[in-house]
Amino acid sequence: MDKIVALAKRRGFIFPGSELYGGLANTYDYGPVGTELLRNIKNLWWETFVHRRTDIVGLDASLISHQKVWEASGHTSGFSDVLLDCKQCKHRIRADHLIEDYLAENEQKIDEFVRRFDLVPQSTDIDPERIKAGIIHKKVEGLTLLEIETILSHLKITCPNCGKFDWTTPRKFNLLFPVHLGIVMGDQSLAYLRGETAQGIFVNFENVVNSTRVRLPFGIAQLGKSFRNEVTLGNSVFRTIEFEQGEIEYFFDPESENWEKLFATWKEAMWRFIITGLGVREENLRWRIHTDEERSFYSKQTEDLEYKFPFGFKELWGLAYRTDYDLKQHIKHSGKELYVIDPKTNKKVIPHVIEPAVGINRLFLMALCDAYYEEGERTVLRLDPRLSPYKVAVFPLLSNKEQLVSKATEVFDMLRETLVCTFDDRGNIGKRYLYQDEIGTPWCVTIDFQTIEDGSVTVRDRDTTEQIRVPIPELPAHFQKKLSR
Ligand code: ATP
Repeated sequence: MDKIVALAKRRGFIFPGSELYGGLANTYDYGPVGTELLRNIKNLWWETFVHRRTDIVGLDASLISHQKVWEASGHTSGFSDVLLDCKQCKHRIRADHLIEDYLAENEQKIDEFVRRFDLVPQSTDIDPERIKAGIIHKKVEGLTLLEIETILSHLKITCPNCGKFDWTTPRKFNLLFPVHLGIVMGDQSLAYLRGETAQGIFVNFENVVNSTRVRLPFGIAQLGKSFRNEVTLGNSVFRTIEFEQGEIEYFFDPESENWEKLFATWKEAMWRFIITGLGVREENLRWRIHTDEERSFYSKQTEDLEYKFPFGFKELWGLAYRTDYDLKQHIKHSGKELYVIDPKTNKKVIPHVIEPAVGINRLFLMALCDAYYEEGERTVLRLDPRLSPYKVAVFPLLSNKEQLVSKATEVFDMLRETLVCTFDDRGNIGKRYLYQDEIGTPWCVTIDFQTIEDGSVTVRDRDTTEQIRVPIPELPAHFQKKLSR
């Protein structure tokens, strides 16, 4: 992971946020090539789930929304993490992460815990079965504060920062960012930066139904920033306080559609997007079904698509059957009716939803991790060419030969019309290849002395390092063919 983070900084994928002023925890800025990679992932997501589908439309809702939106969704009361502070060194940590990481590293403690737990008298305010299930599945999200405290006192998990066991009692911390609108103190009204993109979809459900020709089953997709007051540090852009989400609410009538079948279809579409869309290795992916304790009370089924990051298998993309919970909550809180009319029966239907929700920045980090290879003296990012920031790099063999430079500029200008390209005439050719390998450019075109004689150029392949000669007029078609799959 350290090597990937170093490469990301060195080559301009990601920089720590506000670095000039000492940094701001859990924020990152995307550099020139990182911005291109992020855009390519977003474009591919939009193309796959909106443009290529006839049953999904897009939406771009406001980042700041009315406090009632978040009251209705349950976020103001329930969207919280359990935090612990180390009294010795003041280190702050999410209790579920502390316990889960400990169990992942000390699996032998699990059996021992379960065996000994029943022998000790416990408070009647906790549910021992929930605790044991949480320990066995190494998933303790959803347990009560007292249950978390009980686990901590049994396992005696020490502070990863100072090694002491001296925690404050666990307490809940809301993840929503409040914003105060208006300039006059006292007259300001409270609103929130959105904690997920999904609520913008539910709030606009009626607007979309009334303004478009959608018919059940249909989806509304949204791609955009969400904000969460996260405290866990580390692992680059995996968890940040500001991140990009791609969410779809897929609305259907449970009386005419089988939810299990729809759920399976979505699982297949998500898996395919990662494998064939982003070109990630299948062996690094797996599904994980949420335990009963972890799943929200209104959800009938939740599964996470996880990727094997260098720091372990972690959630990339959640898929949840959320029933009609969200629409009903907004009906209750707004006092408005939200429904669609079934054209066959003329009946009002409050649809159910299946929600695939992905973090684009996690897809970005996955793409970097999956593509990172060290081969002899070179480091290469074997990104799928469709994701690569630049598709082609153009070089004149020597920067002091006017004839080569002007021909290279001509080829560069021609390729730039249809492909995102870059130009480099600094240093020797070997160094230029190594630089392009590190940013994942799939092909390098070199204009050399033979070009002046016969109009052909060298095309060097990033993955095989093989070089072939291609006539200049054939270059655009040559690359387009490789890019179209
Ligand atoms: P986690 O358990 O990792 O905190 P979550 O279950 O709260 O995630 P969801 O609310 O289901 O996440 O959000 C959907 C997706 O958004 C996640 O699968 C993840 O890819 C992404 N995501 C959530 N929180 C963050 C974050 N702080 N930074 C980056 N991506 C995030």
